[in-house]
Amino acid sequence: MTTAAAAARTILTRLHEVMASRLHAQAKLNQVVEIIGDSLDSEVCSIYLLREGMLELFATRGLAQEAVHVTRMAVGEGLVGTIAENIETLNLAEATAHPDFSYRPETGEDKFHSFAGVPIVRHERAVGVLSVQHVDPRRYEDVEIEALQTTAMVLSELIANADLVDEEDLLGNNPALSGPEIVRGLTLVKGLASGTAVYHQPRVTVEHVVAEDTEAERQRVYLAFDKMREQIDRMTNQAEFGVGGEHEEVLATYKMFAYDEGWSRRINEAIESGLTAEAAIERVQQRTRMRMREIDDPLLADRMHDLEDLSNRLLRIVSGQLGTAAAKGLRDDTILLARNLGPAELLEYDKRRLKGVILEEGSLTSHVVIVARAMGVPVLGRVRGLRGLVREGDPLLLDADTGTVTTRPTPALVEAFDARFVKSKERQAAYAKLRDVQPVSLDGSRVTVMINAGLRDDMPMLNLTGADGIGLFRTEFQFLVAAAMPQRERQMKLYRDVLDAAGSKPVIFRTVDIGGDKTLPYLRDEDGENDENPAMGWRALRLALEREGLLKAQARALLEAAGGRTLNVMFPLVSEPWEFDAACEVFENQRQFLKQQKKLLPKEIHFGVMLEVPALAEMLDVILPKLSFISIGTNDLTQFLFAADRANPKLAERYDWLNPSILRFIRRVVKTAGEAGVPVGVCGEMGGRQLEALALLGIGIRRLSITPAAVGPIKELVCKTNLAEIEEAMNRWLAVPPADLRSEVRQWALDHGLEGD
Ligand code: PEP
Ligand code: MG
Repeated sequence: MTTAAAAARTILTRLHEVMASRLHAQAKLNQVVEIIGDSLDSEVCSIYLLREGMLELFATRGLAQEAVHVTRMAVGEGLVGTIAENIETLNLAEATAHPDFSYRPETGEDKFHSFAGVPIVRHERAVGVLSVQHVDPRRYEDVEIEALQTTAMVLSELIANADLVDEEDLLGNNPALSGPEIVRGLTLVKGLASGTAVYHQPRVTVEHVVAEDTEAERQRVYLAFDKMREQIDRMTNQAEFGVGGEHEEVLATYKMFAYDEGWSRRINEAIESGLTAEAAIERVQQRTRMRMREIDDPLLADRMHDLEDLSNRLLRIVSGQLGTAAAKGLRDDTILLARNLGPAELLEYDKRRLKGVILEEGSLTSHVVIVARAMGVPVLGRVRGLRGLVREGDPLLLDADTGTVTTRPTPALVEAFDARFVKSKERQAAYAKLRDVQPVSLDGSRVTVMINAGLRDDMPMLNLTGADGIGLFRTEFQFLVAAAMPQRERQMKLYRDVLDAAGSKPVIFRTVDIGGDKTLPYLRDEDGENDENPAMGWRALRLALEREGLLKAQARALLEAAGGRTLNVMFPLVSEPWEFDAACEVFENQRQFLKQQKKLLPKEIHFGVMLEVPALAEMLDVILPKLSFISIGTNDLTQFLFAADRANPKLAERYDWLNPSILRFIRRVVKTAGEAGVPVGVCGEMGGRQLEALALLGIGIRRLSITPAAVGPIKELVCKTNLAEIEEAMNRWLAVPPADLRSEVRQWALDHGLEGD
């Protein structure tokens, strides 16, 4: 047994003796603070419990005894209140330096510097806080924090048995939760849904923390692991999207965790320290959560969520509390709520009944969001403190378009939402009817409207929207959802499937745009340096040219996949003409190689660039003769033109796409390229928005590649617009820019029977 495990075991044995004794609850708490203070060599150990909505000091060693049952603080107040509110651990060398510190003179705590505290959790809510304080300013060691967390679990058991906190209050029967409330979140998958709140997981509450028989616990975990692995294998074989979807990559990652020896070893170590199987799994999960909070890498954090998903599954198996909401059978109008969901967990739901998902966490690149998008289910993420806001069975209006959810709505709110819902359905139906309509302007110009894609699961959108092709296939998505670098064969298979699905419609593949904010855990800067400004850093073609193996493999995969067909390739973030030449050379070498191998080659290859870096616009005379097309990436171009980080929310509203600088810039590119006979399109988000698309048409853009949901609205816009008229207006505005170009364009749109937003 390790020393840490032995020390933990000693504490647990002592706690166990106290729990098993016939003492009354208060006396037990008094003993617990002594044991912990003693074992952690801490002058102070205190227990605060929630009573009538306040955190009350129930027991202490080291603070003034007169303060017991006198010192009370609100959830969110002081360090103790902060721990309870955020359900998080604090470990501070200097308590007073923390912004939430609040001094309580009656406790006599002024001589203590260091402070560590952990929440006591029951049914996912903090019901109290266990804290230690020390005269010396020192941070507590990991093993000490873990001992505190384990003790908090034991206390949670004691609290439940002794009825020390009000269960009613705990389960959320909170009178404050009666009226409607509009809660904001982050749109992860757009859409509207009204339905009933269903929690994914009635959380497994760990009832027994201290093991009677360690060997028996070890055996229970062993069997549970077996069962869980079996389930995951089965799920991998039956996933509902058929073979070859992105979910395959997702489930592969999942499987990797399920078989991870390190994880099972850590659980076994926790059992060795005297915990039951349930408590050991929870213990390791808590540790993972803590690490996750410290990790500032969204991609890695997403993978950690997958692990958490599995951990919950293991806990359910081992405790025999098997049912998630998926197993219980869903209502027809379920809006699923969860702290986070793993992709496999989402795949277990009947997608006809699942109307929406709300997560406390979640991010745009998380696996579960990719799967939800493929299922067509709207998702709202980052809604903090769900359990405190929504009760099981509450009626909800989820508006993932505007990023809000309304809880317990009044009839008036429901009526307004229903009207919006009907309108959005009507609009979708109307746009669906436009599927076979050609986007031809009133004065007879055919505009090319293509879609942006990146996943195999996006392909059906091509036919559903009737778009002209895929103007931007973001190949890095495959890399982002995979746990390891996708092998050339896998890449080739994806590209081939995409070309097959597109049939006669063109697909423009963009070579990987990774690096920058799209970091991959398995592909880091070899010098180990972190880009301080990743958007302008070692990313996209810069990285691909340096990691020649990467571009080589991709070139070969693309060339092979397009054997006998036309291959369209574009390179991201080209800043100087030589980068384009170098990238083309990699393709040419691979083409020669395949030729020697007598492989079927593409009939034609068209190379283009993404114009995203302003410097390239000054070199058009040099590069144009070599190009088959240019695609303007307005997302990046805008941030570079204005020197404004596209990911910075503070700047998001500041620089308008309907700004004369950007429009003049693009118009110049369109003109120069037009004179050289090179087609120019726009593939940034700008092209999918009504007024922006109108302005782009007005400066001569005739090719747009946009998000699939925007195809209907943009086709309609083209059909209702006289291009000569908007060109005339744009020329006027760009010659002498008005103070507010957006208002002018909006007014023009309204005057011409178009929508004004
Ligand atoms: C762009 O920059 O406009 C673009 C389309 O590429 P991405 O958003 O993938 O950077
Ligand atoms: Mg870009």
